[in-house]
Amino acid sequence: MAHLLRGLTADGGVRVIAADTTDLVADAVSRHDTSPTAGAALGRTLTGALLLSHVLLGHHRDRVTIRVQGDGPLGGIIADAGLDGTARGYVANPSADLPLRDDGKLDVGGAVGPGGTIEVTRSHAPYGEPFSSSVDLVSGEIAEDVAGFLARSEQIASAVMLGVYFENGAVHTAGGIVVQAMPDVQPAALDLLEANVKAFGAVTDGLRRGSLLESMHEVAWGMDLQILTDEALPLSFACRCSDEKALASLAYFTPEERRNMIAEDGGAETVCHWCGTKRWLEPEAILRLDEVPEVRCPDCGTLWYRDAGNVMTREGERCSCGRPVVLPS
Ligand SMILES: [Zn+2]
Ligand SMILES: [Zn+2]
Repeated sequence: MAHLLRGLTADGGVRVIAADTTDLVADAVSRHDTSPTAGAALGRTLTGALLLSHVLLGHHRDRVTIRVQGDGPLGGIIADAGLDGTARGYVANPSADLPLRDDGKLDVGGAVGPGGTIEVTRSHAPYGEPFSSSVDLVSGEIAEDVAGFLARSEQIASAVMLGVYFENGAVHTAGGIVVQAMPDVQPAALDLLEANVKAFGAVTDGLRRGSLLESMHEVAWGMDLQILTDEALPLSFACRCSDEKALASLAYFTPEERRNMIAEDGGAETVCHWCGTKRWLEPEAILRLDEVPEVRCPDCGTLWYRDAGNVMTREGERCSCGRPVVLPS
């Protein structure tokens, strides 16, 4: 079972957050049927989001979303996670792949970037506006990019390790560790930490040598790490999609287009892009969408307003066809 642990050195100078996400990443890779390179990029981003939620969030209903928008063939990765231990995510081009690097490792940096940005959004549901901040990618390898975000956007000094190790085309080990320097950290502790991180090596190597707990103690060697989590926090891939939301997504089609779906296919299949869940919608459910009053662009048919609340365009904005939006009062 994927799980997360948190620890703090005895002097309070260094925080260690660590996750074994093997099962969760294997689940994501199979849901989205990714290539190994895309799976590694997605797995690192999902693990990064789960770890970041413990750095940035305070409330168990808050969420953190990482958007990596690189100019490489993967075409963007999104992962969303919270303190409840759930995460979900996807990659725009899950079948994109690159040859292995000269050192035999997956070329995640090449598939993601190297140019582009990492954006992190904190949402405080159900109250408050989401807060986003973005910085340029460092390498597209994800871990360095998350560390770069923490340094430049949050002024948090950290070491971030994220990894997904494939064997025979399947996820064998996945996980990550964030080591966060607290404001009152001693300079000598930072030197020791740097040496420890270097000696520790890749996080998936650590997790194949020993347990998550052992990896944490290796990283914080000589610093008397105290584990703060009484029990490991379970982690899982979980989406918030539903039959109702799937049906609502068809509201973007015109009533005529929806009737064509019924005539041609006998219903409609929706796929949740977050989790890959496919849903079959019966004609009776699709026709019920017609009962909700809506306003469409007289020129191009774009949905402007729908009574059920899932909309879109505001008075004074312009429609995608250029016509100014006017909603009936
Ligand atoms: Zn879903
Ligand atoms: Zn229009």
